[in-house]
Amino acid sequence: MDTSPATKAIACHDCDQLNAATVLKQNEKALCSRCGSVIGRGGENVLSRTFAFALASLILLAVANSFPFMEFKIAGRSQVAHISTGVTQLFAEGYWELAGMVFFTSILAPIVVVGGLIGVTLPTFLGRRYRWMILLGKLVGKLKVWSMMEVFLLGVIVSAIKLSAMADIVYGPAMAAFGILILTSSAALSTFNPQTFWEYMDEGEIA
Ligand SMILES: [Zn+2]
Repeated sequence: MDTSPATKAIACHDCDQLNAATVLKQNEKALCSRCGSVIGRGGENVLSRTFAFALASLILLAVANSFPFMEFKIAGRSQVAHISTGVTQLFAEGYWELAGMVFFTSILAPIVVVGGLIGVTLPTFLGRRYRWMILLGKLVGKLKVWSMMEVFLLGVIVSAIKLSAMADIVYGPAMAAFGILILTSSAALSTFNPQTFWEYMDEGEIA
């Protein structure tokens, strides 16, 4: 009579040997105790999807912040605007609090969140755990609500519509990069499962 109902058994497909089921970690395999066939696999590294989206976001962030966002042409004169132009313009006009807010929510917070997601997922491929990953994991959790690139883009679109009556507007490569960045960064954040990350950190020794 089986006195331990909690223990489940897995039958081997090759030799029908009954093996006790165990909880498998990432990339772990369970082998049959008699013939050595693979009878179970641990879940894939779910943090790898977060890493892929975060890496794409980092490249898009670089493009969005290096290339022109828009070009305005009014009466034969043209002016190129970068993402940072909004910040410097607000600062120059004395709205330094607003300038700081725009800088924080549309430039600094996205960089820290995207860079942080890469920092907490990349070492998991090598099975490494570092003390700074704990700090970074907490920082990402705190700052993700402050990454408001969609608010910035919405503001830009509204202003562009208003300005389009008096100026010709040419959209730059940074605008496209920024639009895609909003999608990839929200995908990176939504695939990032903090619980999986903290469990991973608890599974081994932290360097
Ligand atoms: Zn077997």
